[in-house]
Amino acid sequence: MDRYAVIGNPIAHSKSPLIHGLFARQTGQQLTYEALLAPLDDFAGTLRAFLREGLGANVTVPFKEQAWELVDTRTPAAELAGAVNTIARQADGRLLGDNTDGKGLVRDIQHNAGFSLSGKRVLLVGAGGAARGVIQPLLEAQPAQLCVVNRTVEKAEHLARLFRDLGPISAAGFDWIEEPVDLIINATSASLDGQLPPISPGLIQPGLTWCYDMMYASEATVFNRWAAEQGAARCLDGLGMLVEQAAEAFALWRGVRPETAPVLAALR
Ligand code: NDP
Repeated sequence: MDRYAVIGNPIAHSKSPLIHGLFARQTGQQLTYEALLAPLDDFAGTLRAFLREGLGANVTVPFKEQAWELVDTRTPAAELAGAVNTIARQADGRLLGDNTDGKGLVRDIQHNAGFSLSGKRVLLVGAGGAARGVIQPLLEAQPAQLCVVNRTVEKAEHLARLFRDLGPISAAGFDWIEEPVDLIINATSASLDGQLPPISPGLIQPGLTWCYDMMYASEATVFNRWAAEQGAARCLDGLGMLVEQAAEAFALWRGVRPETAPVLAALR
């Protein structure tokens, strides 16, 4: 049986085995997919041991940057993201690294939710690994402006410099933004601690601005509750992104892209 896994620390909470199991059943593929806990100081050992037999792996927090270092070749998306979330062992044994997070986010926003990014003013809140991983696909969708806003403004400025040749990107601190935007994407880890990034309510135009929290939980996140209170037109969470990035990984490994709608419905 072909073997795949997701490797992280912690990993017990991961929905990836369930998602890939549903993809495999839907597409009639014979494979297994397990969750592997890697020690914080030995991700490389865990990955190499698994890939002696395994054909591919997903990588999650906190190992995506290490995975970027470890692979032999990278897709352009992974190269720019500075992080790898999908590894495929190729026929010659070399490891190919991809990053499917950004493609997953953009597909969830545009295809699943029906929000066209083209010509829109988009605010990306946060400048950590998750933010960096989604900038290239967001710019490829041709927004009028993508502004990265972060508590530590230097990190936002660094990202804006890194991606400036790909489209209209700028950087700011929380106190410098006043105009309402069409879409706010929360890529901070603040929701994990039940906190809200200090975003001005003036950024939301009631009935027009959409909000997307990359985090997901069984109940609405703090950010999405706040956005709803400000009158946001729609509030989306990151579960769709999770399923879409998984579908991209599955397609890379198996050459067939599963239908995501029934899987997302089953998870909800
Ligand atoms: P990082 O640790 O790399 O970055 C954290 C970011 O959050 C930084 O920009 C940091 O700002 C900011 N931040 C943290 N706390 C606060 C706060 N209280 N107020 C304002 N800003 C804050 O984390 P990641 O980028 O890896 O992950 C971010 C989120 O994205 C996580 O919640 C993760 O679950 C989610 N994610 C979801 C995915 C999905 O498939 N749905 C995929 C990948 C990630 P500063 O730089 O100033 O410290």
